[in-house]
Amino acid sequence: MSSAPLGTPGRLRLMAVHAHPDDESSKGAGTTARYAAEGVEVLVVTCTGGERGDVLNPAFEVPPGHEFETLAGKRAVRRLEMAAAASALGVRQHWLGFVDSGLPEGDPLPPLPQDAFARVPVEVAAAPVVEAVRRFRPHVLTTYDPSGGYPHPDHVYTHTVSMEAWRAAGDPARYVVDGGAPPWTPLKLYYNHGFSLARLRAVHEAMEGLGLESPFGDWIESRAAREIPERQVTTRVTVADYFGQRDAALVAHASQIDPTGFFFAVPRDVEADVWPWEEYELAASRVPVEPEEDDLFAGVRGTQEAR
Ligand SMILES: [Zn+2]
Repeated sequence: MSSAPLGTPGRLRLMAVHAHPDDESSKGAGTTARYAAEGVEVLVVTCTGGERGDVLNPAFEVPPGHEFETLAGKRAVRRLEMAAAASALGVRQHWLGFVDSGLPEGDPLPPLPQDAFARVPVEVAAAPVVEAVRRFRPHVLTTYDPSGGYPHPDHVYTHTVSMEAWRAAGDPARYVVDGGAPPWTPLKLYYNHGFSLARLRAVHEAMEGLGLESPFGDWIESRAAREIPERQVTTRVTVADYFGQRDAALVAHASQIDPTGFFFAVPRDVEADVWPWEEYELAASRVPVEPEEDDLFAGVRGTQEAR
């Protein structure tokens, strides 16, 4: 596994930690595209290779010279897709090299495979995240909430290792590696909230109002029925100008994203009108903050660029 990229001194830096290739395109993609366009240095860190994903796009064709049957074959194809997505977003990307745990199904649930990311001990799984933080030196870190935001073991574990890195990367006594980068303390930590009930409802109502079929009807009902408390949203980043880049990144994940499917069911002018934001929950901060924000770098900007 190659080393994580070094951050550039004098620039604001954002690191987004994700479970699988394609998560960076379906969660917070507009935000990373926007900050990159505005001169922030953005690094997407991908914990696993997505080796246990199924083909989710009926029109997917395996690229010439590749196969999509073995873990190694899927990993190789998904690396190609990820490179195209990162290019569409204008961001850098770094693989941690862990193996996709797969989404266990059945009752009772089967055990996770031996090589699964979610079975790797925390101090082993977090070590390369700590290393990436120390080398890239992000001011802001994004990850998932404790539920994973989606009940996939890799998403839950991505939260776990990100929190460990948030706590440990600045501590010179932890994760000591010969020749390793010096400690670095990120200043703000966010959870991605791409699918708040408020968003689902707003878009759903707008679609119905226009006589269009909403993709969110059943989802809203099941979410409301589960009565899971909604996570807090502290921060809305306006990204409508970056929907095009986000969509290009999604489509780049050709094995996973159906360009006529769910992610494209809402006309973009409707989305821009009703919900031009991506939402976040400020989970922790080491700088003073306001209760509501429209910028992940609020409280950081103007003070930290030189670090
Ligand atoms: Zn995922």
